[in-house]
Amino acid sequence: MSNANLLSWIEISYKALAHNIKSLAGLTGKSKLAVSVKANAYGHGLLEISGLLSKHKQIEYLTVHSFEEAQAVRLGGWLRKIMILGPVQANLLEALFEYDIEPVIFEKTTLRKLGSISNKLKKNMRTHLKLETGTNRQGIAEKELEDFVEIYKSYPYLKKPYGASTHFANIEDTTNHEYAEYQLENFNRMIKKLDSLQMKPVLLHTASSAALILFKKTHFDLVRPGIAMYGHWPSKETIATHLNQGGKNNLFQPLLSWKTRITQLKSVAADEFVGYGCTYRTSKKTRLAVLPVGYFDGYSRALSNHSYVLVGGKRAPVRGRICMNLMMADVSDIKGVKLGDEVTLIGSSGRDSVTAEQLAGWSNSINYEILSRLGSHIPRLIV
Ligand SMILES: *Cc1c(COP(=O)(O)O)cnc(C)c1O
Repeated sequence: MSNANLLSWIEISYKALAHNIKSLAGLTGKSKLAVSVKANAYGHGLLEISGLLSKHKQIEYLTVHSFEEAQAVRLGGWLRKIMILGPVQANLLEALFEYDIEPVIFEKTTLRKLGSISNKLKKNMRTHLKLETGTNRQGIAEKELEDFVEIYKSYPYLKKPYGASTHFANIEDTTNHEYAEYQLENFNRMIKKLDSLQMKPVLLHTASSAALILFKKTHFDLVRPGIAMYGHWPSKETIATHLNQGGKNNLFQPLLSWKTRITQLKSVAADEFVGYGCTYRTSKKTRLAVLPVGYFDGYSRALSNHSYVLVGGKRAPVRGRICMNLMMADVSDIKGVKLGDEVTLIGSSGRDSVTAEQLAGWSNSINYEILSRLGSHIPRLIV
């Protein structure tokens, strides 16, 4: 698809993706890769990204949040393993067998239902236990482990948990990793307990991007990166710690750029207001570009009067409130701007750039949210 007829589009760099996968594989060594394509592949496009990942044989699993995402990648042609990290409704559990999709279990009712379906179908199911180690989100408390073991024992087709996992609460947000160490101790103790009950899983996995980058001892058999594969650091603290450890800062390259076009150019006199709420007033004669992108598309309203876009490699400040489907930028200082000119909302243009991290900083958010909220209606083009 060409962008000639598009008003707003997202470009995905395949070269950057290949580079990032190589970096991840280099960091993880023998551990297998389970990469996250939840949240529409962090806004990059679920089917576009899973299609590209098919070519990379090092990737053993795709991880998703929901059954619907798992089904979409399976029907989209992904032949290797799929793991659902989030909850699955009871009426969809049977379809996990049909599509060969592995659930993460944190709740007894679900495991019992899977057990009785496996009896009915006489089919095995690879399940992963999610262990509660201190995040207090989804997870099985240590004192509940025996109950889960009893359920496994009572369903011959479930046999044993295939995997056991946990998720760290506080690796990204700090340079002090005591809490992660504490969670890791809890995890190791619970695995020992499973082992003593003859239920040791085959595949242990705990590491998201930050853990994978910073802590070798969280790698175990499988690692579960998300954001790093898309070329973004989990946080400033993660890159700072990595550089302190003597690491390289060119490990990851962002895949995504977001672009639009100028759909109206106008001259506005001094002392005129721009947009809803009259929050901006021109101080001089101003050339305004109207852009067909708004908060519906994922350009946060918190960026009103607070960001810039790039036109021909030059910065154009955003003026007034971001509307639902439109926004305005000041192009007074940029020469030769024409109707239909390409505008960069995220990415680089000429020698300048605007990053998801900058937009996050200006809107009190994080790069994960900026990326994952990019509207799924925006066409994704692989370049
Ligand atoms: C999203 C998610 C990941 C990936 O996290 P990143 O910080 O994007 O690498 C890993 N594990 C679980 C359980 C997740 O929900």
